[in-house]
Amino acid sequence: MNIVLFDKDLRITDHQPLSEAAKLGEVLPLYVFVPSKWQGTELSVRHLQFVIESLEELSKQIQEHGGELFFAIGEIEAVLEELLQSFGSINVFTHKENAVKSTAGVKWIAENKQQLMTYGPDLEGVSNKLLNSVLKSYLVEPVNDSLKRIEVPAHVPGILFTDLRKLQNFKVEGRKIRFGQQGGELKGFETLDSFLEGRFANYIENHQKPIPSSLSSSRLSAYITWGNISVRTIFQRTSERIQSCESEKEKLQLEDFLSKLVSRAKICNGTKVIDNNSNEGQLKKEWNEEWYQHWINGKTGIPIIDAAMRSLDKTGWLNFTLRGVVLSFICKSLLQDCRKPSEGLAKLFLDYEPVIHDFHVLQQSGISGKGKIINPVKVGKQLDPEGAFIRRYVPELNRIPEEYIHEPWLYPGFYSLGYEPPIVDVVKANKQARLHYQRINDNRKESKVKKNLETEQLSFDL
Ligand SMILES: Cc1cc2nc3c(=O)[nH]c(=O)nc-3n(C[C@H](O)[C@H](O)[C@H](O)COP(=O)(O)OP(=O)(O)OC[C@H]3O[C@@H](n4cnc5c(N)ncnc54)[C@H](O)[C@@H]3O)c2cc1C
Repeated sequence: MNIVLFDKDLRITDHQPLSEAAKLGEVLPLYVFVPSKWQGTELSVRHLQFVIESLEELSKQIQEHGGELFFAIGEIEAVLEELLQSFGSINVFTHKENAVKSTAGVKWIAENKQQLMTYGPDLEGVSNKLLNSVLKSYLVEPVNDSLKRIEVPAHVPGILFTDLRKLQNFKVEGRKIRFGQQGGELKGFETLDSFLEGRFANYIENHQKPIPSSLSSSRLSAYITWGNISVRTIFQRTSERIQSCESEKEKLQLEDFLSKLVSRAKICNGTKVIDNNSNEGQLKKEWNEEWYQHWINGKTGIPIIDAAMRSLDKTGWLNFTLRGVVLSFICKSLLQDCRKPSEGLAKLFLDYEPVIHDFHVLQQSGISGKGKIINPVKVGKQLDPEGAFIRRYVPELNRIPEEYIHEPWLYPGFYSLGYEPPIVDVVKANKQARLHYQRINDNRKESKVKKNLETEQLSFDL
């Protein structure tokens, strides 16, 4: 039996595994809810909600092609074993990206001598020098639209089901989203269309600004993460749109957007993840649970941090700059170990993609002892000068005069506002952090000198 295994490719357009498998006759489109992937991990109920919305739509699309989308709950090896028992032999069709993430599934297929067919850009082992050209040639290849009819088997094993209501008892932790984006291919395409129709006009200028960026950015990240739309489709539609741009300014906006899309694909090709046992991870051991709780719940008393964290909680999205600001505050200014904040943010970002997330956490959290320490009050004034973003998400500060919006503790009537006093004096905390990093750098230099001396000593003896 030819099985199409869906994971982070929840769409029907530009889905080569599905169209290739369908050409061969009967096919079993399948999505498996793997408990060990969903429970006690960085994934949360908002991700599950987005996936379910995507699967509901995918299911309808597959039905329109004459087929049926099947679901199973279980560890991947157990599900594949069951399918093998039922069908005698199985060929699994999937995207390379899914296969890389499902090492257990790949191992099981190899050990049981079944077939695995993978599709997508072949970037494994490609040097950084060649990566650009290999990636570009994949992105310009025509998108796959050869899918006609899907024939599914008349009888399937009892572990499979088609009604998502069976997931009622599949419990996943976390906070449900309140005003977030909805999953599904249609919504992904609508988001791309509205971006290319005009939302992109001030993409560069608005990129860092909290409220304008939520309209001017593409907002495609969650659709890309869950595969509601392929990067190749976005790349080609945008390239076409660039051809019809009427001004150089318009063109520049879309070219900047495309460069981000390509850099995403490059980051995804890397494997750098936060290693709990590495020296980097051990660098900062301090932990203050009270500070963390204030931070994750948007109650630090520092307006831009609280507005960002509350907005993330409600919408599942933050622009790049604000992601860096909130992370820098907890990890660099407050000198907290980055692992729990990283996990906390992952649960809230609807677009959570482990490789990208870890890549930026490593860059922005000061794990390496390098990088600038941000003053969130100063940055708040630059990003949100009139405090419109703060007022939207921190209602306690709704009526405070503009001159105090970034430093409400200076407002004479502060205690009547019902807003938190700041958990730290930012200037003092940053001063301490600078000393901390200075010590790390001095130690590094010292151990380097020591190492050099040892080598010199060794060469003398020889
Ligand atoms: C600490 C931290 C964690 C992050 N975690 C994630 C994550 O888990 N998933 C994720 O998709 N992005 C992550 N980002 C990158 C970035 O913030 C988001 O991709 C971006 O804000 C998504 O909004 P958009 O779709 O409107 O982006 P746009 O600016 O419209 O960009 C278009 C697309 O390009 C990609 N992209 C844009 N910027 C980046 C970037 N800096 N790195 C990698 N890809 C990029 C995204 O897929 C995005 O949808 C993180 C950034 C930081 C600082």
